[in-house]
Amino acid sequence: MTTPQSKTLAVMTAEVVDNNTQHGWYENVVTFPEAMALLHSEVAESTDAWRRWGIDDATNTLISPAVDPGNLPKPEGVGSEFADVFIRLMDDAWLFGKIDLEAAAASPGQFGINMSFLTNMNTLHVMIARLSLVEETAFMDVTGEQDVAKAFGDILKFLRQLCGYYDIDLTWEYERKMAFNRTRPYRHGNKRK
Ligand SMILES: [Mg+2]
Repeated sequence: MTTPQSKTLAVMTAEVVDNNTQHGWYENVVTFPEAMALLHSEVAESTDAWRRWGIDDATNTLISPAVDPGNLPKPEGVGSEFADVFIRLMDDAWLFGKIDLEAAAASPGQFGINMSFLTNMNTLHVMIARLSLVEETAFMDVTGEQDVAKAFGDILKFLRQLCGYYDIDLTWEYERKMAFNRTRPYRHGNKRK
């Protein structure tokens, strides 16, 4: 699969929104705190994937799309879980304020990356918790909306840094996971949220 470099975050967000609409995810839609809980769950899945396989891709390629085009193998591994974090992040930024995530992630500076994978996962959890707190108090301050956008952007920025550090092609992982998600049943078999 080639990586389309020209695809912008806005285009990818539109694809995510379209797919989520088709799969019923905006019926009985999540609240902000619920969305944050689900974002945490993808970070936890990244943690679990690392414990099992390190950074390696663990997708069962025995199921070949060439043999059965309608039965794509479920992508497994840290890269795929990072794609899940990315997909949810775009969806949430759209759902809760039509935030320009690319602009929000463009703030100067870099976050420190730890040599411990688990420590980096904890940092992602802390960032998501911080976004929850910022959102909860945003109405109290005129700068609240910008603060929420920045907290969203910081998570994407750190996620991209991690992909650079661990040599994960986030756009490629995004394309692979979206291709799989498009084949999944309505609400992935009637999941509650
Ligand atoms: Mg996942």
